[in-house]
Amino acid sequence: MVKGTPSMGKRSGKVVHIKCRRCGRVAYNVSKKYCAACGFGRSSRLRRYSWSSRKVNRVRLPSR
Ligand SMILES: [Zn+2]
Repeated sequence: MVKGTPSMGKRSGKVVHIKCRRCGRVAYNVSKKYCAACGFGRSSRLRRYSWSSRKVNRVRLPSR
């Protein structure tokens, strides 16, 4: 009987993604030092693709 609430107590340390300073999503990679959602730390422009027009932090990022 694991995988549930008891094993969640072992989840400590090893933070891969923290809250991004620019887009606010928890997608900023600590070791790589860039955001997987908006590309913060990698480029000055916002990371956006035509296949990803989802809302980022309640702001719609259109494909255009
Ligand atoms: Zn970001």
